Amino acid sequence: VLSASQDFDFFYFVQQWPGSYCDSKQGCCYPSTGKPASDFGIHGLWPNRDDGSYPSNCDSSNPFDISKISDLTSRMQSEWPTLACPSNNGLAFWGHEWDKHGTCSESVLNQHSYFATALGLKNEINLLQALKSAGIQPNGQKYSLSSIESAIQDASGYTPGIECNNDSSGNSQLYQIYLCVDSSASGFIQCPVFPRGRCGSSIEFPTF
Ligand code: 5GP
Ligand code: 5GP
Ligand code: 5GP
Repeated sequence: VLSASQDFDFFYFVQQWPGSYCDSKQGCCYPSTGKPASDFGIHGLWPNRDDGSYPSNCDSSNPFDISKISDLTSRMQSEWPTLACPSNNGLAFWGHEWDKHGTCSESVLNQHSYFATALGLKNEINLLQALKSAGIQPNGQKYSLSSIESAIQDASGYTPGIECNNDSSGNSQLYQIYLCVDSSASGFIQCPVFPRGRCGSSIEFPTF
């Protein structure tokens, strides 16, 4: 059922490669809980429109409240680690994601279900395993965009959006992977529209 307050068509589920955040010119800081695993981490679950636009900061009357997800904290620390400086416990990142994006899907997901849903989605498709199965490893080597897309398509059945950033020497590298989720947040769908990827023809996959 579409409610008047649901001003989006689908979600992007976005995961980041920590090595590519950390070896950029800005660098990174590990969370106060320690260095994250060498795995993709959640960036966010972002309501989006089919035309590529998206709502943001939709409800300042419903700010992030950590007490609503106290049962999820240890999973959040391992699956949704913050890498921004200065080092912190992650609440700033999670709060930013809820306030900016989560409040725009509150007709579908309350604060607890927003974070629990994202954690559940991460378990459904193992991106690092999908890439490794195709011989694409975080070892500093370079890979083609099409090989990265195909690896995830083959393992999951869904074509991902691939976003690159630059390392401190200016090499294009694998930064974020976007998968699409239906507007009820019940499962993955083929993406209606892809993000601007900014990838070069040859993409580094750095270690972490
Ligand atoms: P950047 O400018 O680094 O690509 O993105 C900055 C922020 O804008 C992201 O962290 C995210 O909050 C938001 N953003 C960027 N692109 C998209 C998009 O395609 N869809 C949505 N929903 N948000 C986006
Ligand atoms: P966005 O607005 O693009 O959804 O999220 C980016 C914001 O979250 C930035 O303000 C950034 O400083 C903060 N942030 C905190 N930790 C991280 C992190 O690990 N990765 C990214 N991309 N942003 C983070
Ligand atoms: P924001 O102001 O939205 O937190 O961040 C703006 C941009 O700078 C985003 O693309 C975000 O990911 C990036 N950024 C913010 N803080 C850091 C940081 O400590 N390290 C890195 N590598 N990028 C950052």
